[in-house]
Amino acid sequence: MKSFPCVLLLAVALSAVPQEQKPMSPQVTVIRAGTLIDGNSAKPRHDQVIVIRGNRIESVSDAASATTPPGATVIDLSQQTVLPGLIDSHTHIFLQGEDPAKGGYDANILDAPLALRAARATVAVRRALEQGFTTLRDVETEGAGYGDVGIKQAINGGYIPGPRLFVSTRAISTTGGYMLEGYAPELEMPKGAQIVDGPVEARKAAREQLDHGADWIKVYMTHRSWVGKNGELVSQPTLTVEELRAIVDETHGWGKKVACHAYSGIGLHRALDGGCDSIEHGLDLDDAAIAQMLKQGTWYVPTLSVYYTDWGPADTPDGKRDRLRASVHEISFKKAMKAGLKIVFGTDMGGIPWTEPIAQEFLRMVDFGMQPMDAIQSATSRAAAMLDKEGELGVVGPGALADIIAVGGDPLKDIKVLGNVQFVMKDGQVFRGK
Ligand SMILES: [Zn+2]
Repeated sequence: MKSFPCVLLLAVALSAVPQEQKPMSPQVTVIRAGTLIDGNSAKPRHDQVIVIRGNRIESVSDAASATTPPGATVIDLSQQTVLPGLIDSHTHIFLQGEDPAKGGYDANILDAPLALRAARATVAVRRALEQGFTTLRDVETEGAGYGDVGIKQAINGGYIPGPRLFVSTRAISTTGGYMLEGYAPELEMPKGAQIVDGPVEARKAAREQLDHGADWIKVYMTHRSWVGKNGELVSQPTLTVEELRAIVDETHGWGKKVACHAYSGIGLHRALDGGCDSIEHGLDLDDAAIAQMLKQGTWYVPTLSVYYTDWGPADTPDGKRDRLRASVHEISFKKAMKAGLKIVFGTDMGGIPWTEPIAQEFLRMVDFGMQPMDAIQSATSRAAAMLDKEGELGVVGPGALADIIAVGGDPLKDIKVLGNVQFVMKDGQVFRGK
């Protein structure tokens, strides 16, 4: 008797199978690449043929030996350099710059209705895709709740164009650890992040965010920063190691990772002791922090460019701090390169207005001594590895998703050409060019 319902279900299921299935054969596209930087290899290859079936890359081969499948659409990029779709691993699609003249950070939350913020995020993701960024790890909505989950659904549902999104929803900080702040204490102000105090609240916030669709959890491990007595950068720590451990433990249990905003000092060291998977910004990495990151395999997403915008006047405390942040950051970046940390491309777009070019970060990295190929891999295969999408994203190779871009000129000779993307394909669909 017990097995009867199962047998019945099986019979129903079998009868539902059509007698003859004629699957639609997926569209085949062939790209002729003049030069291919595949995201993984140390050197470019010339005259390559990329065969794409549906949304996946089937093969990559020398033009001399390649055959074009019958009925394939051919895209001629023989005068261009072809690369994998780029990945920006630190963005805020719900932020629109923090220009003090436009009300700074607070205006994003106080003045903009949620629908306006969603409309602007829709434009932001479109702009990212236009610039060849086919994947974003968006590290919190800055008071727009779970809006990033909605934008991701809109992209995946085909309602709006945009990159693949890895979202982290609300982010987590502590009392005294996030904006809005500086208002009368009697006022209950909205906060740009979910505020927790104690390991129980911390774990609960992580559970809530994961439950509502967070792909990553974002934690603020430092908040305010200022110039210390000895001219050093001091950062206010936020979560304790115990609070962070509860979040990391919970998030890892869900098979997901934790990105930690950390500038320097106590908060940075708590971030590492608590097991953060990536350090965001890491303005002042001391030798102990670098050694611990190497040992733990921590990713480093420096986001250099954003610390060169909106400086206070030179003779003010804020202005001095802003300049110090940039100068110690440069030193940390160079030390991280020398030590062989896993550096991943991230911009903090949103902190930078979305009207500005995303590729400016490449210039800054190369300017600080990074080899152009290394900078490209930080935004392709290395970022994909951080996202646990090795071989699927950030590479032009068999089996990878067909996220492909092209630029004129040679980015290995002049990294600036990455700022002028001429062709964008995401998921086998041409979004821009040809
Ligand atoms: Zn950020």
